[in-house]
Amino acid sequence: MGPILDATPEVRASKNVAPSASPAEVAAGVKSLLARVTDGTDTDDTARDRLLRILDRIEATLTRRTDFPSAAAIVRSLLAIRIPAPRTEGTAPWSSAAGHLYLSDLRHGSAAGRPFTFIVGLDSTHFPGSAIEDPLLLDRERVRLGQDELSLARDRAADARFNLAQLVARLRGTVTMSYARWDPAEARALSPAPELLQALRLAKADATLNFEHLDHHLRVTESRLPRPEVRVDLDAGDLWLRALATSDGRLRNGVEAVGLAHPRLGRGLRAAAALEGDVASVHTGIIGQRDPPLSYHDLRGRILSASRLEALGACPRRFLFANVLRVAPPDDPEFDPHRWLDALQRGSLLHEVYEQTLRQAGERGIEPGDDAFLVLALQLADDEVARKTRQIPSPSPVVRQIETAGLREDVHSFVEMIRRAPPRWTALEMDFGMDDIGVEIPAGEGAPVLARGRIDRVDDHGSHLRVVDYKTGTDYGHGGKSGVYRGGRRLQNALYAAAAAAVQGKPVDCMEYHFPTRRGENRVRRYAVSDLRHGGALVAMMLEGAAAGWFPATDDTDDCRFCDFQALCGVKPVEWGKPPCRLADWTARNL
Ligand code: SF4
Repeated sequence: MGPILDATPEVRASKNVAPSASPAEVAAGVKSLLARVTDGTDTDDTARDRLLRILDRIEATLTRRTDFPSAAAIVRSLLAIRIPAPRTEGTAPWSSAAGHLYLSDLRHGSAAGRPFTFIVGLDSTHFPGSAIEDPLLLDRERVRLGQDELSLARDRAADARFNLAQLVARLRGTVTMSYARWDPAEARALSPAPELLQALRLAKADATLNFEHLDHHLRVTESRLPRPEVRVDLDAGDLWLRALATSDGRLRNGVEAVGLAHPRLGRGLRAAAALEGDVASVHTGIIGQRDPPLSYHDLRGRILSASRLEALGACPRRFLFANVLRVAPPDDPEFDPHRWLDALQRGSLLHEVYEQTLRQAGERGIEPGDDAFLVLALQLADDEVARKTRQIPSPSPVVRQIETAGLREDVHSFVEMIRRAPPRWTALEMDFGMDDIGVEIPAGEGAPVLARGRIDRVDDHGSHLRVVDYKTGTDYGHGGKSGVYRGGRRLQNALYAAAAAAVQGKPVDCMEYHFPTRRGENRVRRYAVSDLRHGGALVAMMLEGAAAGWFPATDDTDDCRFCDFQALCGVKPVEWGKPPCRLADWTARNL
């Protein structure tokens, strides 16, 4: 309020001094207020624009001082303008355009000058309005603020009646008055306002008429349902409602009728309804037990990779689509004029360069601190880029050059990271469980789970090993709040640590995620093996859920952002933030 009050001239008189102000000063105060009004509709913006133009003129020209009420009255009279349609120039037209419906209030109802006027809302609940105080601005506050200019609760009914009488007196042509007979929000019948009866008395020139006469005069209650005798349908709504109306004017259950006539639509409608409720069903991913029931022990023939298990942890529904039903998005690459390699292709290229750099440097006796180490890494990157260029056409040489420069920057980051702590690696891109047997990961008291995968790097630290996995994105999602397993979305740490120990026959002290790219800022996220001891049991529990037919959606729509099955779940991609997903909402609400 401070800046507005500063810009507003003094209103109250100080002792023995009459308040004085010029219209220019009052205009400055109003401008200050308008500048703080938030943007509204196009019409609001047009109104503000017009008012500001007038205020500018007042401020520049009407500088002679007078008493404050007179100055305010001058400004008010100059601001009483009609607002034209948005983006039109010149003054607002006096006559209304044909083919439009004009909505107005009682005060301005006749301004459009139309031959037909409909006065709606004349039920006794809404007209002349409640005599209860406005809870937002109580009467005593209105008295203090408005100095008799703000209407009080007791005055509002009288004002509304006066405005209606004035409106009817002004109107020409045909006037139709109506009231709603039913309040659907409260499921109760409404009665007409006395003004409707008064209108009938005046129209019939009979002061003895009562509400029974009014009821008889009104005859049939109109509703959205077309009357059988009216044969013209104005729009698709009329067409549908006529088809759904019974001969005695009641509405059939259209949704049910359409669902029965079109079974697939019916199934879709039931699925949509299931998501609104809180009962678990096949529509919400609880597809039920097999007969006889399965256990995860029965799934031991299917050895899952760490990334698939992470997919199960992130969204069992996605796992169902991709790995049980084996649904795959069409292999139909879309041309993107601004991108050559997608995230997966870029990541695999960098993984190849990182592996070969360490491997070939080791074979040739090149130390990480040597200049030749960086030269080798960049040469390998260039070779990989050349190979990818032959495999994947780039949209333009410029795009390829930009992406190649980015890849070389990432290789620089990797070299910096290696130089900071040269690893004594003992295995690179180490496969485990790729045979039909898999590697057994202890799962607490239950049977071990079988897994397979590929570990980027295993370092030898003498008495123990350390497992490293490269990530070519940022470390988003690895913060402290996400926990060790991030709700089952992060399992490589536990599985890789256990697998490396089993394959290499040596204890592992921790597993590290490395982010050796510019975006990843060479960060390291470390998980001590003592914190990973429940990973196998967690995987066993997840597999037990899958065996029992539990495939609910994720509970976090962040998982839906880059999901191949968005269309199946009705998820619309968004540019920023998390996309809305009804299935994920159901899970978050109920599980
Ligand atoms: S869109 Fe969301 S809910 Fe649907 S499968 Fe993908 S991650 Fe799961």
